[in-house]
Amino acid sequence: MSSHDLDTSELLPPYACAIVCHRPYEDFYICITLMRKKLVARWHVFLLTILVLTSAGLPHAAVASLHVATTVAPLTDMVQQVGGDLLHVHGLVPEGVNSHTFQPAPGDVQYLAQADLVVLNGLHLEIPIEKLVQSSGKPGVTVVKLGEHTVSQAEWVFDASFPKAQGLPNPHLWLNVDYAMHYVTLIRDHVSALDRDHAAMYHHNAASYLTQLAHLDHCITAAMRTLEPHQRKLLTYHDSWPYFARRYGLTIVGVVQPANFSEPSPREVARLIDQLRREKVPAVFGSEVFPSKVLHKIASEAGVRYVTTLRDDVLPGAPGETDHSYMGMMRHNVTTMLEALGGTPATFATCLQEPATR
Ligand SMILES: [Zn+2]
Repeated sequence: MSSHDLDTSELLPPYACAIVCHRPYEDFYICITLMRKKLVARWHVFLLTILVLTSAGLPHAAVASLHVATTVAPLTDMVQQVGGDLLHVHGLVPEGVNSHTFQPAPGDVQYLAQADLVVLNGLHLEIPIEKLVQSSGKPGVTVVKLGEHTVSQAEWVFDASFPKAQGLPNPHLWLNVDYAMHYVTLIRDHVSALDRDHAAMYHHNAASYLTQLAHLDHCITAAMRTLEPHQRKLLTYHDSWPYFARRYGLTIVGVVQPANFSEPSPREVARLIDQLRREKVPAVFGSEVFPSKVLHKIASEAGVRYVTTLRDDVLPGAPGETDHSYMGMMRHNVTTMLEALGGTPATFATCLQEPATR
């Protein structure tokens, strides 16, 4: 077969190769070449078709590449809401553990050693974890302290459990949904900067989540107005609520837990009982993480209701359930407060069921 024959045979359909394949060796080689050329051409057309289809809007295959380490469960949930399946997320602080005194275990080093991004609340909540990141973190790791980029130092709250003399402000910013929304924008911007290929997806997820958070914020504000002014008082065991109270118009009338997370002295207990009677606070609130016999005693002697189930960093329900989320935790907390203080939980529930279009 001459080279001229070869050129013209390329115009033949693929089965034409079978005709020449039983010829001597050099023809067989030519035959294989022809088939390969046709197959490669068809493969290119196939790939091109796939590319066109995917660029036309079909979903990309998501491959998680970025490793993110977080601390308390509400922050972990926020990162997962923004990242979806695109991130490997590990929350270091187990639920039900005192996050203020949490010491990372030796096994946590593996998560920090591979984390491209470490998301902290900051305001000194996670000092032992910060030290471990410095000693064992991945070279070049990005560390973001959400709280410190959400409020200025002038907006920090110091109080009985977080006294200014110790220089450690109250860190519970995330219980104010407006601040939580700022946390989400910071998370979105950091993961987008580190994983530009998926930035559009992170922005899409964050926009949807922020819409829901804005609606939750609106519903909490409206729900708290169902309380009479004299009912808008919080006395809690753990001191988690000053930023929530500032946002939603409540007053913190007291906290039980001293700065060292021990139980209060008998003198302090007597003072709290007097305060509850004087201010006619309808209920006192314990915490899932800090069950307290002392608070039970204070409530019974003051003749007020004792509610044990407020949560500041423990999510309700089991993993995988809708309520096992930051938003679920806030729905639970607000409903609990409304029931105990004399508000209208039904108003809150109705608001939440309205479409989140804000
Ligand atoms: Zn706390």
